[in-house]
Amino acid sequence: MATTEPIDEHGRWRPKHPVIDLLALAGGVAAVLAGYAPFKVIVAGLVAWLILRIGVLMLGGMARPIPEPPPVGELRKVKITYRCEICGTEVRMTVAPDQDPEAPRHCQDDMVMMTPIDDL
Ligand SMILES: [Zn+2]
Repeated sequence: MATTEPIDEHGRWRPKHPVIDLLALAGGVAAVLAGYAPFKVIVAGLVAWLILRIGVLMLGGMARPIPEPPPVGELRKVKITYRCEICGTEVRMTVAPDQDPEAPRHCQDDMVMMTPIDDL
């Protein structure tokens, strides 16, 4: 998860989740206008803000970060042909992070290796 400070390119502080802040604030204003006691509105607004923040944090925790690409020198030259069993598309992989790379996906399914194992 990103742990950068919430400062924009001009060096000014800005809220990390402005939509959540605005939702809690708008709910509070609407509740005050509807005639609820200010103390209850403040408590409800803070609880709503906290629940939304925790929900966003949990969703962010489920997101998988994309792995960093390895340095160019660590890549291996390969010559592997894959075929999509659904539509018949064939692709040739020429560079991979290791000699036995994971098969690419096409038509939402793993492609099948066409290169004989002896030629790897
Ligand atoms: Zn396909």
